[in-house]
Amino acid sequence: MENKLLVILGAGESGCGAAILGKEKGYKVFVSDMGEIKPAYKALLEQHGICYESGKHSEETILQAQEVVKSPGIPESAPIIQKLRSQNTPVISEIEFAARYTNAKMICITGSNGKTTTTSLIYDILVRAGLNVGLAGNIGNSLALQVAQQQRDYYVIELSSFQLDNMYDFKADIAILMNITPDHLDRYEYKFQNYVDAKMRITRNQTPKDAFIYWSEDPVIDNEIKKIKPLATLYPFGSKKEHNVAYIDGDNLTISASNAMSLTMPVSSLSLKGKHNSFNSMAAGLAAQILHIKNDIIRQSLQQFAGVAHRLQYVATIRGVKFINDSKATNVNSCWYALESMTAPTVLILGGKDKGNDYSEIDTLVKEKCHTLVFMGVNNEKLHEHFDNMGLNIIDTHSISDAVRLAYNAAKEGDTVLLSPCCASFDLFKSYEDRGEQFIQQIKQL
Ligand code: ADP
Repeated sequence: MENKLLVILGAGESGCGAAILGKEKGYKVFVSDMGEIKPAYKALLEQHGICYESGKHSEETILQAQEVVKSPGIPESAPIIQKLRSQNTPVISEIEFAARYTNAKMICITGSNGKTTTTSLIYDILVRAGLNVGLAGNIGNSLALQVAQQQRDYYVIELSSFQLDNMYDFKADIAILMNITPDHLDRYEYKFQNYVDAKMRITRNQTPKDAFIYWSEDPVIDNEIKKIKPLATLYPFGSKKEHNVAYIDGDNLTISASNAMSLTMPVSSLSLKGKHNSFNSMAAGLAAQILHIKNDIIRQSLQQFAGVAHRLQYVATIRGVKFINDSKATNVNSCWYALESMTAPTVLILGGKDKGNDYSEIDTLVKEKCHTLVFMGVNNEKLHEHFDNMGLNIIDTHSISDAVRLAYNAAKEGDTVLLSPCCASFDLFKSYEDRGEQFIQQIKQL
């Protein structure tokens, strides 16, 4: 192993973690990034004596690698990946690499929407239960860095389809699939099935001793299960009692991974509101029960979990007007779920960089829940075309300060102002986090 060359493509969180772990395990490590490497990551690599380059890929070195760890951000179509493939060099993900060096139980979450919320909720339950657990994947520190630096018994890992693409021998002890709706098709040759196949890889290598938790009412998942017949023990959840081990029955939610361990609690007592969050709570509760965590702890977490920033995050109530930040709602489907969870008359702030959106998906809920729409984008034309004839109060803005101030003016006592943009943030903001933080800042100034 001593002389094996491990090349890491991409010097971000996952790449630097893999480099440090690789070095520790005796590999000769070389890190290559086509773009700029952030100063903090440069410092980390230097501190560990790891060779790296930025702004280029030196083929003569990279093509000599015995194995390559690829950042999820690099597409399969990148010329360097194509060259590695053509000479049969194994290209794997950081999670695949890191998992070789730990015996910890792996709880893995994927899906088109709800990954971060469910991952955070499971982590919260496991921490409350006093388990020695790490949080990894798209969230927090890379798995590889944690494996290099500490011994954990459990990892809760958020997995994107890009990470799953390059996983081969990895096995999830508990795999969770929230839903599959079209996303990232530009990375999958515009074929939805390719993206679906990537998501289904979460069940790869699982045996009947492992668990597969999934939303049973998703037609895409249902179809895949019939097709690939996963070997894992199945734990379906959904809104109906029939065929599900976690479900909603009237005003109650039941989680029952086994008959001996059934938990029933009022939906209204869940800290995360909205139907989608009931699903996230069910998936998290099932995972915890499979790990034999006591129902008291699960109930406590589901009732007290503070939520994840920018996902239906409660910000403040000012003179009776409640403000909610759902800046992470970067597609129409997630705005649908946000509106579905609104219980008061709503002023909706939406707009931004449109990704070819079809807004008709939210028409019914907009008419039912909103009296005012505040458009906030560089270009609001498409929003005007779609919504202006609905008979609602329409306000046109091009900045967060105007949007918040005018939304507040339009709201009456008891109303909610919801930022759930349906769009990416890049026209006016650096990121969805930046948009959410500026929203909160503006509210503080009211
Ligand atoms: P992800 O990590 O998959 O992007 P998040 O947990 O960050 O998912 O949630 C992103 C947005 O998706 C939220 O703002 C919410 O409106 C919506 N969402 C969350 N959970 C679900 C779910 N189970 N089904 C559909 N939409 C969801």
